[in-house]
Amino acid sequence: MDYDVRIKQIHIATQRLFDSVSIDVEQEFRFDDWELKHLAGCKECEHIRDVFGRQFSAMHKKAATDEVA
Ligand SMILES: [Zn+2]
Repeated sequence: MDYDVRIKQIHIATQRLFDSVSIDVEQEFRFDDWELKHLAGCKECEHIRDVFGRQFSAMHKKAATDEVA
């Protein structure tokens, strides 16, 4: 199968999408080239990553609030 066709059909592993938003800033996270290309054209993966991102920042805000209180 053609590389460009294949990257459109294989979704990025959910764990990778989660890691991309949750990993500490000091730890560098890098998508593979094919993952970047896929993400640019896949609404589904973009959406999942978005959901994880929101979830994660909500968790962070809550943790910050708990520390203050
Ligand atoms: Zn996808």
